[in-house]
Amino acid sequence: MERKALLLVCDGLADRPVRELGGRTPLEAASTPNLDALAQAGITGIADPVAPGVRAGSDTSHLAILGYDPRRVYTGRGPFEAAGMGLRVEPGDVAWRCNFASVDSNLVVLDRRAGRIADTLPLVKALQEIELPEVEVELGSLGYRCALVFRGEGLSHRVSDTDPHATGVKVKPAEPLDGSREAMHTARLLNTFSEKAHRVLEAHELNRRRQEAGNPPANYLLARGAGIVPELESFSQRYGMMGACIATTAIIKGIARLAGMEVVEAEREYIARARQALQVLERCEFLLMNIKEADEAAHDHSPERKVEVIESIDAMVGELMQFAEDNYIVVLSDHTTPCSVGDHCGDTVPVLIAGPEVRSDAVAAFSERACASGGLGRIRGMDIMPILLDLLNRSEKYGA
Ligand SMILES: [Zn+2]
Repeated sequence: MERKALLLVCDGLADRPVRELGGRTPLEAASTPNLDALAQAGITGIADPVAPGVRAGSDTSHLAILGYDPRRVYTGRGPFEAAGMGLRVEPGDVAWRCNFASVDSNLVVLDRRAGRIADTLPLVKALQEIELPEVEVELGSLGYRCALVFRGEGLSHRVSDTDPHATGVKVKPAEPLDGSREAMHTARLLNTFSEKAHRVLEAHELNRRRQEAGNPPANYLLARGAGIVPELESFSQRYGMMGACIATTAIIKGIARLAGMEVVEAEREYIARARQALQVLERCEFLLMNIKEADEAAHDHSPERKVEVIESIDAMVGELMQFAEDNYIVVLSDHTTPCSVGDHCGDTVPVLIAGPEVRSDAVAAFSERACASGGLGRIRGMDIMPILLDLLNRSEKYGA
């Protein structure tokens, strides 16, 4: 029988001991009977998402967990955001993530999100008319968030952000980050585009109406996170399995799309998500499921909410227990997001693998500290897929 695999990435799940929780981490404080049962039946360990001490982003960590070396394929966040928004991107394109922002007549940023403007499609349509010499321009947006793609010869991602990342200061001109002709050329193109975009947006009917209604105009496009669209070997080619992804965030969807995986928009409710996962696993061999909410609670410095989210995730895992009897399930966090820090840090994360032929260890709880004595020891994100393929008997033999 062909066994299947579910890789459940609980975003930012791992944490540090929290004083309000009696020195326990949210994962230790939460009641997690299902995750603990999987830990008991399975093998556990801890992982460095990228390498010891590296503060991985969700993007670089997910690339590593899927077996794509981020140090080779990752140059910036832009390409993954653009692909996640459903834009057509091709290897070699340069992409940025952008915000529709409000600036005054001196180009001083008043609001980096233009009052969280919701309907930006008419603006994107108008911006698509902008012509640049020898470069094809593509745009897509989701509310105030936007992605910008340049396609053409001689482009580079080595250009600085035009986004000053603050209000009350002027937008920045893009500058080349190295001495190459490509970086200079791309910086010049982005500056030309930004000026033209500003003129188009200033004159746009939608912004006139916004100002009449007392709303800040979306009259500037702030760009950041330039990256080159990488050429990723497709997941199915690399592993001989059809892969799918269930996620809510554009960046994770973008990674899956660039790896040629089917992308499914996640259900909102946790139990519905488990059923959705089992449904998707009927038609493919591998599913990556990203659950974002624990990370959001940690970014908001809320250990209480993080505990609640973890308990909801555990209830969802309860629906997946039967699947793990005949198939493999991997549960891990893509990075540590301590509630005390409100951002990612480079600590290790707990990992568990459960399934029919796993050599179980003595660990009977799923947590940062319990898993540290598990049979997997300390591994890296890039080790997950080889270990999983081996359990699935899909590994190629190394040597005779
Ligand atoms: Zn993450």
